[in-house]
Amino acid sequence: MLKKLLSKFSHDLGIDLGTANTLVYVRGKGIVINEPSIVAINTKTDRILAVGREAKKMLGKTPPYINVSRPLVNGIISDFEVAEKMLKHFIDKVHKESYSIIPRPRVVIAIPLNITEVEKKAVEDATLSAGAREVFLVEEPMAAAIGARLPIQEAIGNMIVDIGGGTTEIAVISLGGVVASKSLTIAGDEFNADIIQYIRDKFNLYIGEATAEDIKIKVGAVFYLDDSIEMEVRGRDVLSGLPKVIKVSDAHVREATSKSIKTIIDNIKTTVENTPPELVSEVYERGIVLAGGGAQFRGLTDLIFSETRIPTQILDDPLTAVVRGTGIILEDIEGMAQVMVPTTEE
Ligand code: ADP
Ligand code: MG
Repeated sequence: MLKKLLSKFSHDLGIDLGTANTLVYVRGKGIVINEPSIVAINTKTDRILAVGREAKKMLGKTPPYINVSRPLVNGIISDFEVAEKMLKHFIDKVHKESYSIIPRPRVVIAIPLNITEVEKKAVEDATLSAGAREVFLVEEPMAAAIGARLPIQEAIGNMIVDIGGGTTEIAVISLGGVVASKSLTIAGDEFNADIIQYIRDKFNLYIGEATAEDIKIKVGAVFYLDDSIEMEVRGRDVLSGLPKVIKVSDAHVREATSKSIKTIIDNIKTTVENTPPELVSEVYERGIVLAGGGAQFRGLTDLIFSETRIPTQILDDPLTAVVRGTGIILEDIEGMAQVMVPTTEE
């Protein structure tokens, strides 16, 4: 009874706590926060200086007493205190806009597939101490599939591949559950690292992460292009230490990232192989749905199709699929209990 009453008044939240980006959905309002998962802290006072975009601007430009960091690595909380501070900052921001007598929110938060109990508990504890009244967990690809409005509750094979910054989550979902899956720590961040390494080896040039990401997005293509694209890249010469400019093309990015991309495609194939035969034929018919920012890598849908012969498409708004899924769950937390994973308390 009290629970029912509380839920009527509180602004329940859906959260996608991603390695690269954190998004918050408020029931009845939609997505209210969409920011990089980055926090700047003054180490002298232990206070937050900036979160999200503001903190990202400070990266690599700070005096020693300011620490700019990402609290998640490969989808998992690596710095508990900072993750909790970041969540608290976002929850407070949402809460402040409403009346203070409103009860603390219930929170549906997405977690990667196959995380350990300890890692799961870290997410729960961080969310509770950041101000949640109750926490519900949903696996990221499940949330993405719900956000994509796939018929996950039916006896149909739904295949979803979520390529984020830190993880790639591959899942076949039927009857509200994950039937076959793979979780990899190769995703957008790894592609950037591949590009940094390649440019150093091939051109003797040091570049930073932001530059590598820029190259990936501007000229990167995993599938052959009829018209090659290239851009000028500025970095520091490994030998002389002086600034130097080179030209980087889609072919370079393709070569740099080919091994990582192959690993993702191999794991998609393995997941299909591990899917029960009845569902496989449906996956071939209905196709693969791509979500996550990393899925926007130019040519990826074409490459996956050419390697698997399974029709592949990317969602219209791939970066928000997971949080939209948590938003749909919020509408009916009790009714959606089946698609969620038990918390460590239960
Ligand atoms: P996470 O769920 O881990 O927070 P996101 O789904 O927010 O990750 O995706 C972030 C990743 O998407 C980053 O690695 C970023 O470089 C990558 N990304 C964003 N846009 C593009 C693009 N147009 N092409 C390739 N990668 C992209
Ligand atoms: Mg994600």
